[in-house]
Amino acid sequence: MQVDLHTHSTASDGKLTPLELVERARASGVDLLAITDHDTTAGFDSLGDASFGSLRLVAGIELSAKWRQQTIHVVGLNIGRDRDAIHEAVAVQQAARRTRAGIIATRLAKQGLGNLTDRVEALASRISIGRPHIAEMLVESGAVRTVDEAFRKYLGSGRIGDVKDEWASLAQIIDWIRAAGGTAVIAHPEKYQLTRTRLRELIADFRAAGGEAIEVVSGRQAGPETRALATLCEQSGLSASSGSDFHQPGQHWAELGSQSAVPDGCRPVWERW
Ligand code: AMP
Ligand code: MN
Ligand code: MN
Ligand code: MN
Repeated sequence: MQVDLHTHSTASDGKLTPLELVERARASGVDLLAITDHDTTAGFDSLGDASFGSLRLVAGIELSAKWRQQTIHVVGLNIGRDRDAIHEAVAVQQAARRTRAGIIATRLAKQGLGNLTDRVEALASRISIGRPHIAEMLVESGAVRTVDEAFRKYLGSGRIGDVKDEWASLAQIIDWIRAAGGTAVIAHPEKYQLTRTRLRELIADFRAAGGEAIEVVSGRQAGPETRALATLCEQSGLSASSGSDFHQPGQHWAELGSQSAVPDGCRPVWERW
């Protein structure tokens, strides 16, 4: 079975509409798909109760959380539609995103990179705004040539646009997901550049707060990384998830449904649904 439990649509920083995303996933042979936009369920919600043949769609969200001065992404899977806890989570996180985007725009303006405030506010009123959108605005204005350059110079870790203390705590994020009937998953654990010791601490804190799974298979990450995460997963007694983190066609490291299988010995998170 081909499973992809981490994808983005135009409701956040993905390039395909929710319908295009589902169609592409189906054409790629995905049987079980979660749309997990950053801090919103609007993409999934827009599909209503439509059915997609052999493809089963699961409600999801990717919430940004604060853990020890660091941002950690938590994927919430199989959450109940229209649950108060998810509405609250989305409201709090969207307010944080709007505030943060405004701060970033102000900082960029001070650097002489142009005034993006109005455009940022207009976009934030329609979708879940993130740094990739601001990066694109910098490309359009000619301040940088590529999105990658925008992250390297202005928006990436340690740069002026790296504003990260706005998110809800890891424990709060997990509480919201659980209260909405969902399963909390640590997204792309290899992306935080944590030492093994710190990753173990994150997993311990996550588990103590009610988190239930780790994204053991993330995009087309290397085999040794997957095996190391599988070991951590087994040792901690958590379940394993699998997701591409697809944002747009053409990113070969994150194409829909192209991940390897979850290693033997790991309990797949979707078995409980
Ligand atoms: P945000 O949600 O505003 O914190 O932005 C994080 C998002 O930016 C991630 O989900 C990625 O989609 C994207 N991103 C992070 N780093 C880069 C990068 N170096 N180049 C392009 N996109 C990036
Ligand atoms: Mn993203
Ligand atoms: Mn993420
Ligand atoms: Mn993601």
